[in-house]
Amino acid sequence: MNTKTILEILVKMHQKIEEEKDFLTELDNAIADGDHGINMAKGFAVVESKLSQLQEQSIGAVLKTVGMTLVSAVGGSAGPLYGTAFMKAGMVMADKSIMDMNDFLACMKAAVDGVMMRGRSVQGEKTMLDAMIPALNAMEKANSEDLPAKAVVEAGVKAARNGVEYTKTIPATKGRASYIGERSIGHQDPGATSFTYLLDVVAKAL
Ligand code: ADP
Ligand code: MG
Repeated sequence: MNTKTILEILVKMHQKIEEEKDFLTELDNAIADGDHGINMAKGFAVVESKLSQLQEQSIGAVLKTVGMTLVSAVGGSAGPLYGTAFMKAGMVMADKSIMDMNDFLACMKAAVDGVMMRGRSVQGEKTMLDAMIPALNAMEKANSEDLPAKAVVEAGVKAARNGVEYTKTIPATKGRASYIGERSIGHQDPGATSFTYLLDVVAKAL
């Protein structure tokens, strides 16, 4: 992937989030304050408005701009958390203008670590991490088996979807959904769901 591919993927991420905006908001409404779709759509709209200025930039610079934009444009927790994820990925890529699968996995690892640090959260708390961590593990495994890039990311999407299903079985212990505790059981986590959509956009683009 080069900068152009990354910019195209970001546009498609915005489209996908727009399509799923109401559903994401509905999911958040069931266990928290019903703004996840709105937050994500707003953030990615501002991201898209900046992309035309980034065509000559390195992938690292693009990802850093995306991260800073999400942190500043989106209130609540998901904006700063996704923002941190993209900024950490940007630091991994630095001035590189080509991203291979090993780079992508290093970005994902940095993103997971960034969310864990900023969110003071771990796997099993009914958050985006319950999709991100299984996806990362599955992609590392698929990559070590020398599968082609698309199959690697598809394995990640599958694991992320299973992670979303898993979030239905546990109570939230982080974020606003933790206020309702055990009553959050039975509902899927909005952030885990939006992450799965974003990764699926990458898989489809490859
Ligand atoms: P807010 O919770 O501030 O209303 P959003 O509704 O946009 O923000 O995002 C909620 C999502 O953010 C949750 O579904 C969850 O996946 C994620 N989230 C919340 N807190 C944390 C945390 N501490 N660590 C990781 N993810 C979190
Ligand atoms: Mg919310």
